[in-house]
Amino acid sequence: MYKNLFTVFLVFVGQIAVAQTTVIRNSEIAQMITEISSDSLEHHVRTLASFNSRHTLSTNEENGMPAAQQYVLSKFQHFAKKSGGRMTAEIEKFIIPGDERRIPTDSPAANVMATLKGTDPADDRIFIISAHMDSRNKDVMDEKGAAPGSNDNGSGTAAVIELARIMASHEFPATILFVAFTGEEQGLKGATYLADKAKKEGWNIGAVLNNDIIGNSSSSETMIKDNLKMRVFSETIPVAETEQEAAIRRYINADNDSKSRQLARYIKEQGERYVDHFEVKLIYRADRFLRGGDQTPFAKNGMTAIRMSEMNENFLHQHENVRVEDGVQYGDLPDFMDYEYLRKVTAVNLASLASLANSPDQPLEVKIDVRNLSNQTTLLWSPPETGTVQGYFVLMRETSSSMWERKFWTTDTGLTLPYSKDNYFFAVQAVSESGAESLPVMPTPLFKLN
Ligand SMILES: [Zn+2]
Repeated sequence: MYKNLFTVFLVFVGQIAVAQTTVIRNSEIAQMITEISSDSLEHHVRTLASFNSRHTLSTNEENGMPAAQQYVLSKFQHFAKKSGGRMTAEIEKFIIPGDERRIPTDSPAANVMATLKGTDPADDRIFIISAHMDSRNKDVMDEKGAAPGSNDNGSGTAAVIELARIMASHEFPATILFVAFTGEEQGLKGATYLADKAKKEGWNIGAVLNNDIIGNSSSSETMIKDNLKMRVFSETIPVAETEQEAAIRRYINADNDSKSRQLARYIKEQGERYVDHFEVKLIYRADRFLRGGDQTPFAKNGMTAIRMSEMNENFLHQHENVRVEDGVQYGDLPDFMDYEYLRKVTAVNLASLASLANSPDQPLEVKIDVRNLSNQTTLLWSPPETGTVQGYFVLMRETSSSMWERKFWTTDTGLTLPYSKDNYFFAVQAVSESGAESLPVMPTPLFKLN
C-alpha cells in the first residue's frame, strides 16, 4: 500500500547562512492527520466528563468508572468493524492489591484496550498509545464526589479513541495497542499491571507513547495563552540501567541518548514534519515535579516510554473540586479546554505512531570502531530482524546539540565518514521501502573484531 510513497527525508544544505529544509510527508499519514476532528475529540471529552466520577474505586454502573469504561469499549468495538478483523477490543479486569496508601484493600479494576494486529506475521513489535482514564478531585480517596477529569485525563483518553478510529482501517506491519488505563491517580496501577504483564510474557514493546493532560493551552498565574507548543518528557539516565550499561554510557558519553530520549527526538521530528504551526519541546526529565505518569512503569521495566503533555498547565482546573470561590471557577471542566490544541497534540501522536508502526525494526549490533586514533568515523551494523529495508540513515550531531543535524544515506551495513568520532555523536536508523524510519540506535564501542 505504500508503493507510491516517497522516501521521507530532510536535506540540510551545508552550514551556510541560509539553510533550506525540505519536508516530504508520507501521503497516507498526512491524509490520516486531516481526519482528526476537534469536534470528535470534544465529544469524547464531554461524554467522559458527563459521568459523575471516573475514580478508580468508583463502582457505580450508571454514572461511575464502569459506565465510562463501557463507553470507551463500545467506541473501540465500533471502530473494529472497519478493520477487516484485525482490531479487537476488550476490558481487561484485574485486582489492584491494597497498598495502605491510595488503595485501602484489594480492589477490582480494569484497563480498556484495543489491539490493531500488525500485517507482518514475522514482526512481533507492539507500539502502545496510552492515556489514563481515571479521574480524581481534591481528595484522592473520594470515589463518590464529582470528578469530571476533562483535561486530566479525558483529553488523553479522547486522543487514544480518535487514533483508534482513524487507524483501524489502515494497515501497519507492527501491532498497535490503544490503552485507556485505570488507577493512575492511585499510583500508576493500571499501567504497572500492563507493564509487568508485558515484561513477564516477553512482549516486544517497540515504544510507549503516554498522553496525560494534553488539551489546555492557557496557564494559571502566568496567564500565557499559546496553542503552538507541547512537551515530551523523556528520562535522561534510564531508571532500569544496569551497571554494565552505565559503564558504556559513561565511556561514550551518551548521557543524553537514552532510548526514551531517542524516541522523544523522533516524535519531535515526525510531529513537526506533519503538524503545522506546532513545536514539540523536549523536556529532559522523566516527568514534572511532584507528579508522575503511566510511562514510568514501562521505563522501570527497561522499555522505551515517554510522556506527552501540554505546554502551559492550569492548576485551577486540575485535581480541584468543582466550585466557584471569590468569583473563580475551579474544577476540571470541559469548557476550559482548547479542542483545536488537543487536535494538534493528537496529530503529533498519529504522525509518530504511524511512522513507528510502518518502520522496519531497528538495526542490530550497531558499533562504532574505536580501535584506532583517526579523524574518520566508521560505523558497522547488521540488518534488523523484521521489515523490508531499503537502506539506512547514519545520523550525526554536535556533542552539544539536542537534535540530530545531518543524515547520511547508505544501502550498506557500514559507513565511514570524514568526521572525527571524538567531535560528534552518531546513530543509525533503518528505513523501509516506503521510507518509514526506525528509532535510531546509538552505537556501542567496537574494541576488537570478533
Ligand atoms: Zn493525569
